[in-house]
Amino acid sequence: MKKLSFAALFAVLLTAAALVPAQKLNVLYTNDLHSHFDPQIVPWADKTRPIGGFANIAALVKREKAANPNTVYFDAGDFFAGPYVSSLTKGEAIIDAANYLGLDAACVGNHEYDYGWENAYKQFQLAKFPLLNGNIFVKGTDNLHWNKPYIIKEVNGIRLGIIGLHEKFAFEDTVAPVMVKGVEVRDEKVYLRKYIKELQPKTDLIVLLIHIGIPGTQSTGGEKDVIRNHQHDIDLANAVPGVDLMITGHPHSGTPTPIVANGTIIVSTDAYTIELGKLEITYDKKLDKITDYKNHFKYLYDDEVEDDPEMVRVINKWKDKLRSITEEKLTTLTAPLTRSYSESSGMGNMTADSMLAAYPEYDLAVTNSGGLRQDLEKGVVTVGQLISVFPFPNTIVQLEIKGRHIREAFEHGAGLTNGIVQVSKGVQFTYDESRPVGSRITKFSIKGVPLDDEKTYKVLTSNYLADGGDGYFAFGKASSYKLTGVDILDAMIKYLKQFRSFEPDTEKRAQNVTPGKKK
Ligand code: FE
Repeated sequence: MKKLSFAALFAVLLTAAALVPAQKLNVLYTNDLHSHFDPQIVPWADKTRPIGGFANIAALVKREKAANPNTVYFDAGDFFAGPYVSSLTKGEAIIDAANYLGLDAACVGNHEYDYGWENAYKQFQLAKFPLLNGNIFVKGTDNLHWNKPYIIKEVNGIRLGIIGLHEKFAFEDTVAPVMVKGVEVRDEKVYLRKYIKELQPKTDLIVLLIHIGIPGTQSTGGEKDVIRNHQHDIDLANAVPGVDLMITGHPHSGTPTPIVANGTIIVSTDAYTIELGKLEITYDKKLDKITDYKNHFKYLYDDEVEDDPEMVRVINKWKDKLRSITEEKLTTLTAPLTRSYSESSGMGNMTADSMLAAYPEYDLAVTNSGGLRQDLEKGVVTVGQLISVFPFPNTIVQLEIKGRHIREAFEHGAGLTNGIVQVSKGVQFTYDESRPVGSRITKFSIKGVPLDDEKTYKVLTSNYLADGGDGYFAFGKASSYKLTGVDILDAMIKYLKQFRSFEPDTEKRAQNVTPGKKK
């Protein structure tokens, strides 16, 4: 065969380059991993086959990257808060394990601040992958709390500008004020515009990793209980043009079909490691835009993926370290303890009852559905499992508060943005979802007597709710507020320990009585 001269070869290559179809890029994505090291049964997805876990995610990321080097993996935050390994290490174990996930970048989520802003900073420093945030500031200064707003990464000739932000609303809605005293979050739209402007001349595509919207449901029923949407994501895409791909977290609501708003492709997963999303992107450099995309979205069944051995080693290291604390037996459940976001649940009843048991002279105890993070199977319950149920360092607060403010707080719950309140024995209420938010409660009694708006009640709740967490601002209207310093988790441990065997009380103390509502 005749040899081509260098010039001729160069010309051929140039022509070939012009004809090369647009470049391809695979984006793997997750959000709200919430420390779920182990595969789990997700009752609303599959009743028998465990799904997810860090070792499966790590293995799949490796497999995808080996099959196609033009693959990147991004996460949209909330590594902490979940099984006990997060609480007992204040997130350290989770960052340690996340270092083996194969992440190319991630943003921080609200739960990274569960153990305080100083702890968050300490743990962020352990991350070996780019962890991004560009709008949480040290209070009263122009210094970013975690100074890494974006990175630029080139893959297959495509220059990606990857920005990390946290929505102001989502942060203030779901962090305990006492834990974030030293930081403040500023308007994400302002900072998104600023970073896009800085990145656009140097990059081809803008990728936004953001924690945004209304919080995810904490319910055994999952999506069937209270439907979540991505309206805040859509609003942001409409308000700030220029983002090509938005990977979002917080509502725990997956997008089997990506949402497209104002030219921005929006994707998210259902949380807890149960899916690893994959978006195949075709980018046309000439047109400077994504011309095609295909989304792959399915449950990550444990029996379909081999565990990544490196990740297994890291997980076992942390479990072994904590074993002496976590394996203490508390009681034996005669039936599973499950959760609900729209009604009272066995788990919610048990939590509120254990708070009331600590101070039986009080009228009622109230806790938020969002604070209950895991179901318990029938059988032995250990300390570790209970920490996984309630992974927050919240303490009991004693309030004296008028009936009308209690009603206002319960009405906020019945609005379902943050889930209804879970209540102690003796409290009964019903609500109708078809009525306007703020006037949904149709019946409300305490120990058989209708709630008196003018009467002052003695209420136990968490410091999180008493300080307005989850939007429960009405508790701030209490005439008296006293911190007990007693951890809710300790009250639960003490309560369960009294019973050799514990029979869950599934009495419907809070009921959704919306006409025509399917159960
Ligand atoms: Fe989350």
